[in-house]
Amino acid sequence: MKTINHDFHIIIIGGGVVGCAIARELSKYKIKIAVLEKEDDVGWGTSCRNSGVVHAGFNNRPGTLMAKFCVEGNKSFEDLCHQLGVPYKKIGKLVVAQKKEELKDLQKLKQQGDANRVDNLQIIGLNELKRLEPNLVGIAALYSPETAITSPYLLTIALAENALNNGASFFLNTEVKDISRLDNSYFKISTNRGEFTSSYVINSAGLYADRIARMAGIKKFSLYPCRGEYHILDKKASWMINHLVYPVPQDGTGGLGVHLTPTIDGNILIGPSNEYINRRNDFSSTFPIMKMLSAEAYSFLPLISSGDIIRSYSGLRAKQVPSSVGGFWDFVIEESDTVNNFINLIGIESPGLTAAQPIAQRVVNIINKKERLNSNFSFNPFRKGILKFEEQDEETKKALIKQDSNYGEIVCRCEKITKKEILEAANNPLGAKSLISIKYRTRAMMGRCQGGYCQTRIMEILREYFELDPKEITLKGNDSYLLNGYRSNKENNQSCQKKKLLSLEEGLLV
Ligand SMILES: Cc1cc2nc3c(=O)[nH]c(=O)nc-3n(C[C@H](O)[C@H](O)[C@H](O)COP(=O)(O)OP(=O)(O)OC[C@H]3O[C@@H](n4cnc5c(N)ncnc54)[C@H](O)[C@@H]3O)c2cc1C
Repeated sequence: MKTINHDFHIIIIGGGVVGCAIARELSKYKIKIAVLEKEDDVGWGTSCRNSGVVHAGFNNRPGTLMAKFCVEGNKSFEDLCHQLGVPYKKIGKLVVAQKKEELKDLQKLKQQGDANRVDNLQIIGLNELKRLEPNLVGIAALYSPETAITSPYLLTIALAENALNNGASFFLNTEVKDISRLDNSYFKISTNRGEFTSSYVINSAGLYADRIARMAGIKKFSLYPCRGEYHILDKKASWMINHLVYPVPQDGTGGLGVHLTPTIDGNILIGPSNEYINRRNDFSSTFPIMKMLSAEAYSFLPLISSGDIIRSYSGLRAKQVPSSVGGFWDFVIEESDTVNNFINLIGIESPGLTAAQPIAQRVVNIINKKERLNSNFSFNPFRKGILKFEEQDEETKKALIKQDSNYGEIVCRCEKITKKEILEAANNPLGAKSLISIKYRTRAMMGRCQGGYCQTRIMEILREYFELDPKEITLKGNDSYLLNGYRSNKENNQSCQKKKLLSLEEGLLV
């Protein structure tokens, strides 16, 4: 086993959207930072398995950190996406009442939003609802024009890459196993890839944050996985709605109800469900929930048909509230009162994506108060994403192909992704090279055929580019090898030759 022995000022455990946002905020200062992430890439926990909604902040109880950071996050989100080259669209949200009894709940939601200082909320009646969404079933709605959508995985990747470019270190495939104190000033963090030392630890391990806290001797937190399943609809269904469409939330459920979410890439999501489960790695899609999702969506949008569904997936909420209680508890973002310099982020469930930047700023403020951090004057907030060939005009496309012929080869036919984009994704600054890393960076394999056409072509590109033995190519890192039984042409020929000789000896023809 390779032993890494680095001394860092600050170690962040967990490369989700929150850990990566913290790394970026900290890279504005002259400090040695590292992010330790157990997976092969950043964002593979809850951060790539959500609705991708930039919430406005009317769902959260006034006075909570959730409400404060959601509203702040919403207001600064467009700038953040602009700096990082991440897509963002303010498409607005409708919370739709289907029965008269729900009208008072819309009023309550609006009042809560007003108390949280959410801008431009209004209750609209049937006519306006029909004008905004002609295909929808409902009688009135709370309209929030400030609600937006983004790409949660691209944002996480972009935060990480920008932090990396500004000096932060990322250790992927690095699982924290134990934490101890060397003396009063240092932590020793033991991982599957050796030991690290640091003056501060930031516990941003999402659903596993209670276990990480326990490694440091902090026993007061417990987290409960609460699964949300989704259907993804084909892009050809995208014309059916223009806004995010939510039901009126039910008290105590701990979710916002099954909603219809147009994604930034032109699909519609149906979900998520809301179900406490026992295992923290159970991302199943289950038949009863899949049926329930379809029925709920159909009640709002009868045009939807099961033939529009191209895939299902699920994400796990890191709930502090046990199922017997239900509802939401507030984010915990605090330095431990028993372990000095150990900062816990606990229960960062929705709207954690929206609130990631304000959460990160809160963490930096906690450290800054103790340390008076020195600014990194060379911090560059900007990061360029991979250029999307399909979104360019015809002239630009021609010029790009002239510049680099790899733009002239479409690898993913559904999403129209070129070889050049695959190569750029493979050459990412974090060094992640599995198929899922390519998928999240380019959208290749995310279309109607779900990789049926392009997956093997992408594997071939990876093989060539990294000079890999095909057996080394993985779906999502670790031991997710795809071609265990692969034989090269040479091996195949040798084996055929051997068989031929044997059969000749036995007097048989192959
Ligand atoms: C169904 C669903 C829908 C949601 N929709 C929205 C939405 O529309 N808008 C919104 O604002 N929010 C939404 N959220 C919430 C949002 O997704 C989360 O708040 C956010 O992603 C949390 O990010 P995180 O970085 O804290 O956690 P994660 O993304 O889970 O990151 C934690 C990381 O820690 C790593 N880790 C864990 N243990 C270890 C270890 N021992 N060593 C090293 N690494 C470790 C994990 O691999 C993981 O990458 C939704 C959540 C769910 C589940």
